[in-house]
Amino acid sequence: MTSNTDDLDVRVVGGGVIGLTSAIALAEDGHRVRVLSRDAADGTTSAVAGGLCWPYRIQPYERAVAWAVRSFQVLTDLARRPEETGARMVMGTMTATTGGGGAAADAGDGVEDGLAAWYAAVPGLRRARAEELPEGSASGWRARTPLVDMPAHLRYLERRLTAAGGVIERAEVASLEEAGASADVVVNCSGLGARELVPDPGVHPVQGQLVVVENPGIEEWYVSADSGATDTTYLLPQPYGLVVGGTARENAWSTEPDPAVAEAIVARAARRFPELTRARVLAHKVGLRPARPAVRLAVERLSGGVPCVHNYGHGGGGVTVAWGCADEVLRMAREVQEGRGPAHR
Ligand SMILES: Cc1cc2nc3c(=O)[nH]c(=O)nc-3n(C[C@H](O)[C@H](O)[C@H](O)COP(=O)(O)OP(=O)(O)OC[C@H]3O[C@@H](n4cnc5c(N)ncnc54)[C@H](O)[C@@H]3O)c2cc1C
Repeated sequence: MTSNTDDLDVRVVGGGVIGLTSAIALAEDGHRVRVLSRDAADGTTSAVAGGLCWPYRIQPYERAVAWAVRSFQVLTDLARRPEETGARMVMGTMTATTGGGGAAADAGDGVEDGLAAWYAAVPGLRRARAEELPEGSASGWRARTPLVDMPAHLRYLERRLTAAGGVIERAEVASLEEAGASADVVVNCSGLGARELVPDPGVHPVQGQLVVVENPGIEEWYVSADSGATDTTYLLPQPYGLVVGGTARENAWSTEPDPAVAEAIVARAARRFPELTRARVLAHKVGLRPARPAVRLAVERLSGGVPCVHNYGHGGGGVTVAWGCADEVLRMAREVQEGRGPAHR
């Protein structure tokens, strides 16, 4: 996109991956951006994420896939500088235990599960051969995709935003109107916080627990995630350890790791990867995915008249779609600036 000359004063509520990427898109376009975040970046759901770029538990699939394809391009580029950005390209296998449904479903030509455009866009993606599948997997895909070390990536995003002139402030916002009091535009990237802030009762937590273990030598990622399943199995080799997942519990609010759940997660993974049986546990993590029947990415005029670009409800795919969504936020802010918005949705 070309740069603009008439800059906007923007308040972004939320300093997770969605808020920071949106803020960067705006700041690098020349706008004055201030991020207001209740939590430090390492205290957000984004910091807990396993960091795989693959659409999962996010709706509507059609839009999400387009955002994911855009993010794939950006993250592939960032993966050229892994030390600086936290992003790397890693080979892996996405499998399903059943023949239909989920992110990894055996969907024949890839149309039925809504991910056809994704399969077409990922360079080199192909069907896994039987000998490449762990026992118990019916089918799967092999692909080299971005895998993001999220704590490192969030630090990179904060540095990049600051370098573009953006400001990050630790502050809890009581209302979007308050956030936008002296601004031209508010961008609402408050994740689960949108439940109270908007308020939007459609936003709810899908709790995810994972275990970080000492890596016994696994270099590829592996995911078996059937749509709607409460328990999934995934392995994501990160520089800080091997991330073993996971769970997806609708409307569970606790962020306390459950030792029995952790044990079950590792046991499940060890059935397919026996070398995990004796792997030393380094950390336990729990995060609340900000789920919604569909991502809300649209402009609304707040009661005080200030336009607000909502960008929340990314469920289990926020890392995967963040850069694609950030592009749309910038486009919507420009439309507001040019007097062509806001649309209502
Ligand atoms: C276990 C687990 C594994 C995951 N793995 C993946 C993965 O591999 N790939 C993937 O794409 N996604 C994954 N996800 C999903 C991903 O983490 C989320 O979709 C993403 O982090 C959402 O980002 P966000 O910025 O919207 O929310 P958050 O990271 O939760 O950030 C919300 C921000 O809003 C701020 N905020 C909220 N309310 C207020 C307020 N009133 N005032 C001020 N600030 C406020 C918070 O402080 C925070 O800064 C995973 C999630 C979990 C839990």
